[in-house]
Amino acid sequence: MRPRHDPRSHIILTAWLCPGCDVAGRSAPENEPECWNCGGPVVVTARPSVPAAEPAAGSPANS
Ligand SMILES: [Zn+2]
Repeated sequence: MRPRHDPRSHIILTAWLCPGCDVAGRSAPENEPECWNCGGPVVVTARPSVPAAEPAAGSPANS
């Protein structure tokens, strides 16, 4: 599997589903996903790659 995104500008989130509450959410990759409703364990459904919220520090947006 080849990476299609620049890891510096994209992050991989953990998308999950709580079967008990029937709610879904996303967690940062460094965090253990847990349900925001019941705080219980969740089922990971996907790991979407999304653009990072902030540009890397020190790299100017325009040249
Ligand atoms: Zn839940």
